[in-house]
Amino acid sequence: MAPPVRYSLGDVVRMKKQHPCGSFEWEILRVGMDFRIRCLKCGRMVMLPRPKFEKSVKALVKSALPDENHRLFVETEKRMANATTEDFIRDEKAMQELGVSETDLDGTDVES
Ligand SMILES: [Zn+2]
Repeated sequence: MAPPVRYSLGDVVRMKKQHPCGSFEWEILRVGMDFRIRCLKCGRMVMLPRPKFEKSVKALVKSALPDENHRLFVETEKRMANATTEDFIRDEKAMQELGVSETDLDGTDVES
């Protein structure tokens, strides 16, 4: 048995089970009696009681330094706040470069 791991805010963990989106990796957003984690791929947030969380984790992928926790959290929040606009602009540019016009995508579900 592996020794118990101390998890902290900003840590990235690999789960035993694959999320429906295909990702195994989750970022820890909150620790305590309940853990709040976010899927790194689809952004889905889940709250788990600590024992369930610890049983679900396969490995600690990336450990955040304690003094980095707050900064990471703020940065993540900022990134999420800006993501929609920036991603949209980038997608639009990529579409132009690929020669795809908006009319081609008319009526198409953007979500993958
Ligand atoms: Zn996911």
